[in-house]
Amino acid sequence: MTSTPLTEIVYNHLTINVKRDDLFPIVGGGSKGRKLYYILNKAVKEGYNAVVTTGSNQSNHMRSTAIMAAQIGWKSIMIVHDKQPVLYTGNLKITSMTASELRFVNKEEVKDAMDKAMQDLTLQGYKPLYIWGGGHSVEGAYAYYKAVEELSGQLDKAPDYIVVASGTGTTQAGIEIGVKKFMPSCKVLGVSISREKERGLLAVYNSMVELNAYLNLDLPLDSNEVCFDDSFVGKGYEDVYPNLVYTISNAAKKHGLILDPTYTGKAFHAMLNYIDNGIIEHNAKVVFWHTGGLLNLTSSNNI
Ligand SMILES: *Cc1c(COP(=O)(O)O)cnc(C)c1O
Repeated sequence: MTSTPLTEIVYNHLTINVKRDDLFPIVGGGSKGRKLYYILNKAVKEGYNAVVTTGSNQSNHMRSTAIMAAQIGWKSIMIVHDKQPVLYTGNLKITSMTASELRFVNKEEVKDAMDKAMQDLTLQGYKPLYIWGGGHSVEGAYAYYKAVEELSGQLDKAPDYIVVASGTGTTQAGIEIGVKKFMPSCKVLGVSISREKERGLLAVYNSMVELNAYLNLDLPLDSNEVCFDDSFVGKGYEDVYPNLVYTISNAAKKHGLILDPTYTGKAFHAMLNYIDNGIIEHNAKVVFWHTGGLLNLTSSNNI
């Protein structure tokens, strides 16, 4: 497993270490590649040889699955819950370039379409793996547990805070358990990119419980200790608001840091607010976990 580098940036005299999972070695980079590395490696050992998963046109998870499936010679079917566009861009373009079979459906049809794709592959003699949208799974969370171990080996001293964009909660859950194990003085600040607090926090917590059991760690867990901030979502998933655009353009101009409006832009925007408001103290050691999303940026008309 190759590790991703750290880049330092300075904001208001505070040094922030950026963990560059946007450079994870898969085209387009990102956290979905890191999760899939574990999901698919385990499945290869278990004899699987095909995969069915789902996502919207600009799904990073779908693009990463399609690329990795092609790399290991697996057949793949993508259930795309979106309108089929005339012009393919970003993640959809790359997904369509692999041998992956795309089936466009309405949101309500996803489950049936995935079941049908599983059946089709089984009838063709394959052993297909079913992956939830976003790669939401205990192996996905494990990938980020291991990533914290990787990070701890790259730093002289544990950070006080890790800030990360949180969607399905798998990434944050892995980081939370990893932090408890490898850098217990650190606090994880999860920034919601779409879900409201109650639902999002519960998803993170459930994944933490699952990973804790999977690894036989027996760590004491308390959902009240989990931070899942939904105040930077805007109107919802993929909503782009003026202050967010300002933060993203400034990060590019002042730091050469490229963020996307769907995921990392919101998390970075939240982090700057925490620093400005003293929620993150001015002498704190901070890691911003860059989870990728480059293709969400380049397929967006808003920035
Ligand atoms: C999916 C994704 C996330 C969120 O990860 P979850 O594990 O679903 O919480 C964050 N950033 C990027 C770029 C993503 O693609």
